[in-house]
Amino acid sequence: MVRTRFAPSPTGSLHLGNARTAVLNWLYARQQGGAFIVRFEDTDLERSVEGAERDIQDALEWLGLAPDEGLFAGGEHGPYRQSERVEIYREHAERLLAEGRAYRCYCTPEELEARRTEARAGKGDVRYDGRCSGLSSEEAGGLIASGRLASVRFRVEPGVIHYRDRVRGDLTVDGEQLGDQVILRSDGRPTYNFAVVVDDLLMGVTHVIRGAGHLSNTPKQVLFYEALGAVPPEFLHLPSVLAPGGGKLSKRAGAPGLLEYREQGYHPEGLLNYLSLLSWSSPSGEEVLSRDQLIAEVDLDRIGAANPEIDPEKLRWLSGQHYRHESVDVLERGLRDRLAGRFEPEARQLRALAEVLRERILILADADPVCELVLPEPDLSSSDAVEVLREPKAGRALRQVARRWERLQSWSRAELKEELAAAGREAGLKGRQFYHPVRVALTGAVQGPDVPDVAYILGRETTAARLALGLVAAEDGERGGG
Ligand code: GLU
Repeated sequence: MVRTRFAPSPTGSLHLGNARTAVLNWLYARQQGGAFIVRFEDTDLERSVEGAERDIQDALEWLGLAPDEGLFAGGEHGPYRQSERVEIYREHAERLLAEGRAYRCYCTPEELEARRTEARAGKGDVRYDGRCSGLSSEEAGGLIASGRLASVRFRVEPGVIHYRDRVRGDLTVDGEQLGDQVILRSDGRPTYNFAVVVDDLLMGVTHVIRGAGHLSNTPKQVLFYEALGAVPPEFLHLPSVLAPGGGKLSKRAGAPGLLEYREQGYHPEGLLNYLSLLSWSSPSGEEVLSRDQLIAEVDLDRIGAANPEIDPEKLRWLSGQHYRHESVDVLERGLRDRLAGRFEPEARQLRALAEVLRERILILADADPVCELVLPEPDLSSSDAVEVLREPKAGRALRQVARRWERLQSWSRAELKEELAAAGREAGLKGRQFYHPVRVALTGAVQGPDVPDVAYILGRETTAARLALGLVAAEDGERGGG
């Protein structure tokens, strides 16, 4: 059974790069009928950020990537937080110590750093020199007596290490280049490479799909698997997601956290679709793919090594595509939540807004200007509005429109449009002369969505009331008043 995992460090919220990793792990697990595990790698406690685990979980839920096992989902292979697994790492390190695959090292971090600095300055060797690898028990006893704490170091034997990456194929590195590796720090915390192997092993992970940044860690991890008597899982390193225009992903470079995309009202399926396609493409050439299509089609062998760049316009476009394909109900709910506390449209207005906006918005935030224009009472006292309504023919335009719309059987967009055009013909007016007074009466502005759509959203009564008020102002102008 396929078991994949997503192993974020809770150092902040998810950005598009990590999210892409989660998406591929989830898709592959779903396609294979396997399990998707979420494990938090928080051994670096100084870097852990309060609330980040919850934020990451929220972002995963929003994208619809429910874990089968994990901190918030439970499961039989927990705990799913590394800081709660310290005892497990210690036991495994003890085992390697007992088998002579590892040894205790009494060098302090300061000494190690000083040696490395010296080596760098003299272009020397920065690897650990192995000085603790052959200590006698008397020597070790002396070091302990002098108050030194021991870390645990894994012996890396010289010789070629073979490892395999699904994207890059067979790879090798010379063990000699690595030097002996710390697996347990003197304070008992594991190093990343060791913890990840112990966890993936005990959690039965079959496919490690992660960012290319971890490719260089893989040979070390492969050694640990072998020492623990296990066969390594399959490794697949995803190309790095780059910021728009290239360069590292960061907030500044135009890559906000996932929850900010939620805030902006991106369609989660659109984002899922986008993140999937960052690394592979459908053989059909189709770009707009549903969740089910993505699951059916994801293909690890179609993942290339080139680093994809975020294309914000394409991401917005895909979000819009998913709104178009979505039932109006979903957009209606989204709009209601988004407008809460700002506007309280009637149920019919909300529905009409959703119907109209479904055809034009890419993200929910695009609805803001439309709602702000259409929903509040129009301000007819601005100088622009006054100017338009005082045009000599404004009254005629408004009267014709009001008369024709009043008689409509059904308040449909098609009929509103037809009757509006007929009113213009009847009044003998066109262009701005005709449309500007109507627009201003309905919204107070001369720009905005199509006039029939505005009326459709407002509904029969509100439209009639606004046209009537506009007419009052226009008639004032006709009399040459005030
Ligand atoms: N915690 C690691 C990271 O956030 C992931 C390690 C892994 O996937 O092996 O980069």
